[in-house]
Amino acid sequence: MARSESELILVAGGAGFIGSHLVARLLDEGREVLCLDNLQTARPSNLRLLQGRPGFRFVEHDIVLPLPETVTAQAHRITRVYNLACAASPPQYQADPEHTMLTNVVGTHHLLRLAEKAGARFLLTSTSEVYGDPEVHPQREDYRGWTSCIGPRSCYDEGKRAAEALTFDYARMDRAEIRVARIFNTYGPQMHPDDGRVVSNLICQALSDRPITIYGDGSQTRSFCYVSDMVDGLIRLMEAEDPALRQQPVNLGNPVELTVRDLADRVVEMTGTRNQVVYLPLPQDDPRRRRPDIGRAAELLGWTPVVTLEEGLQKTCAWFADELAMDREVLAAE
Ligand code: NAD
Repeated sequence: MARSESELILVAGGAGFIGSHLVARLLDEGREVLCLDNLQTARPSNLRLLQGRPGFRFVEHDIVLPLPETVTAQAHRITRVYNLACAASPPQYQADPEHTMLTNVVGTHHLLRLAEKAGARFLLTSTSEVYGDPEVHPQREDYRGWTSCIGPRSCYDEGKRAAEALTFDYARMDRAEIRVARIFNTYGPQMHPDDGRVVSNLICQALSDRPITIYGDGSQTRSFCYVSDMVDGLIRLMEAEDPALRQQPVNLGNPVELTVRDLADRVVEMTGTRNQVVYLPLPQDDPRRRRPDIGRAAELLGWTPVVTLEEGLQKTCAWFADELAMDREVLAAE
C-alpha cells in the first residue's frame, strides 16, 4: 500500500522485540509509523534499524504518564493504535512490579483515550499468562484462567487481565473499536540476549561458555511462535473486519508443543555445544503446560503460523551468533 500523508499508525513499545518487527513490516508496507517507547527493555540496536527509514518517527515516552503534545496533536491523523508497551520477560517485569501494573492499566487507559479521541482502532497485546497455570489444555479463549493475584507474576498477568477488562469496557461503551491478541511465547532475532526468556537463554548459553540451564526437570511444556508469524497475526487481527473481533480476544501462537528439555536438546544439537546442562529450581507459579488453541484465529483471520520450529531456531541461532561475535569484537577493541 502506498504511504498516505494523512494516515498515521501509533505503535507503543515499538522499539521492543515484537514491536520492532511490527514497525519494520508496517514501514515495508508503506505506512507512516509513530513509535512511542520509554526504552525500558528496548534494545538500542532495534531502534537503530528503524531510525532514518522513511515514514518512521520516534518519541521517547513512558505511557504511564499523560501522552505528550507531540502525540496528541497528531490525533486527527492516527487511524490505528497498537499497544505492545510492557516488559514481557519475568525478570524484567518483576524488577519494578508497580511500574508493570501501571503500564498495563494506566498506560493502556492513556492509549485507549487517544484511540477514542482519534476515532482509531486499538489493539492490545495481551498474553497467554492470563490463563495462569492452566487446568485445561490446550487453552481456548473461553477458558477463564487459573492465576494468582498475590504472586510475583501478578503485576504482569493480573495487569494484563485488567488491561483486557478496560479495553472491552471501551468497546461496550462504544468509545473505541478494539482488538485483543493473547500472545503465546514468541521468539526470533532482535530478542534481548539477557532478558531471561527460555529461547534466548538457551541459545546464548549454547553459543558461549556458560552452562545450559533448565528450570525444574524440564518436563514443563511451551509452544513457540516465530516472530514473523506473530507480526502477520497482529496485522491481520488489526485489519480484519468481522464484528465478532470487537467482543472477543484472539489467541495468537504456534500450537506445536514441546517440553523445555526437548527445546534444550534441539538447541544443543543445532549449535553443537558441549556445555554442561544444569537443573535449577522451578520459579514460583511457573505454568506446567502451555499450548494455544488457535481455532478462532484460523476461522476469523485465516491465520496459522507457517514457520517451523526448526527453521525459526536456525534463523534465531544464526542471528545470536552474529550478535555475540560483534559484542566480542567490540570488547576486544576496548
Ligand atoms: P519487549 O520487552 O521486548 O518490548 C516491550 C517494549 O515496551 C520495550 O521496548 C519497552 O521499552 C517498552 N515499554 C515497556 N514499558 C513501557 C512504558 N511504560 N511506556 C513505554 N514503553 C514501554 O517485549 P516483547 O516480547 O516485544 O512484547 C511485546 C508485547 O507483547 C508486550 O505487551 C508483551 O506483554 C506481549 N507478549 C509478548 C510475548 C512474547 O513471547 N514475546 C508473549 C506474550 C505477550
